[in-house]
Amino acid sequence: MSVFQNRIDSFKETYNALRENDRYYYLQQIDELDGAHVHIGGRRMVMFSSYSYLGLLKHPKVQERARQALDHFGSGTHGVRILAGTTTEHVKCETKLAEFLGHEDAIAYSSGYVANLTTIQTLLGRNDVVITDKLSHASIIDGCLLCNATFQRFRHNDMDDLRRLLEAGKNRYDGKLVIVDAVYSMDGDVCPLPELVEICREYGAWLMVDEAHSLGVLGETGHGIMEYFNMDPHDVDMLSGALSKTLPAAGGFVAGKHDLIEFLRHSARGFVFSAAIPPASAAAITAALEVIEEEPELISAVRRNIKRFVGGLNALGYDTLNTKSCVIPIIIGQEEPTLELTARLHRDGMFVSPILHPAVPMNTCRLRANVTAAHTDQDIDFALDLLERHGRDMGLIK
Ligand code: PMP
Repeated sequence: MSVFQNRIDSFKETYNALRENDRYYYLQQIDELDGAHVHIGGRRMVMFSSYSYLGLLKHPKVQERARQALDHFGSGTHGVRILAGTTTEHVKCETKLAEFLGHEDAIAYSSGYVANLTTIQTLLGRNDVVITDKLSHASIIDGCLLCNATFQRFRHNDMDDLRRLLEAGKNRYDGKLVIVDAVYSMDGDVCPLPELVEICREYGAWLMVDEAHSLGVLGETGHGIMEYFNMDPHDVDMLSGALSKTLPAAGGFVAGKHDLIEFLRHSARGFVFSAAIPPASAAAITAALEVIEEEPELISAVRRNIKRFVGGLNALGYDTLNTKSCVIPIIIGQEEPTLELTARLHRDGMFVSPILHPAVPMNTCRLRANVTAAHTDQDIDFALDLLERHGRDMGLIK
């Protein structure tokens, strides 16, 4: 039998075992989305796995602008943007993104994954070094593996460890790039940006920050990590992120100096050799950025909801690490109780994702719950109630 078939069979064994034991909670088919609820197999469940942090999916203004673009340009963009497909909606979207983030220019890619991967690959060469946090998103890790530079990682949020690496390689490399997540996607905590900026300056390294989970959520008016720390956007060289989370579309971006973005528009393989995002998505993104600025009450709502949920979980005795965002880890530890708790919660109407090793370190298996502005107090209390009842019954909390 071929080695490929062996791999497929080994996967199938795990997959079948999960299915047979009511432990499979992936690729659930959603028939309907309604606010903070989803309909699955005729059942309405409260959704705690959505990245639509401000509840902008189906926002009337966003829907209307996407519809207009769909009517005007059609459903696709007939090719790659550099040759055939840059529409006014793409230009408006990138202009608005740059303005929102306080940078000179921005480029929209087909996904957040591609944004990190192709940008890192394009910028770095053989004699450079790229250094990232051990908990950085897979798209950053994959970009670092794909480029020809030396690839190093520092302990999570440990600035002494970063400094150690930069010091050791001080005279060894041409270009140096440090990449971090603004909010870490499994732990929900925030990078120590002021220290990062200082260290990168000291060692002449560029700094890139991924705003996938912070845009629209962090900062007084939702402008992200720079606003959260009251820092000048130009203190970092590049911001990257997803257009599929708070911004209810699909795609990714990088924002920075105009020259850098023009370079990427003409050199990044994930842009030059990959089709444009649909004009309706571009229009939805522009409209959503406007809504964030027009409706600050959404940011207050999500913040209130985070506080209510995290406060409630901690009062019950659950460990939520050091989350400062909509990503709320509920640490369980071992794999089996994590899956058992997930099964019970799903059965009772709470949609939440189990996160297991190797996605997270051994013995830190968890539920990852995302709180959004669309949740009501009743939704949050419903979830807390279930987590209290099942957590006690399973001996996870006292
Ligand atoms: N960066 C981070 C930090 C993410 O969490 C994600 C997606 N979860 C991405 C990038 C990739 O974004 P996309 O889903 O748009 O490819």
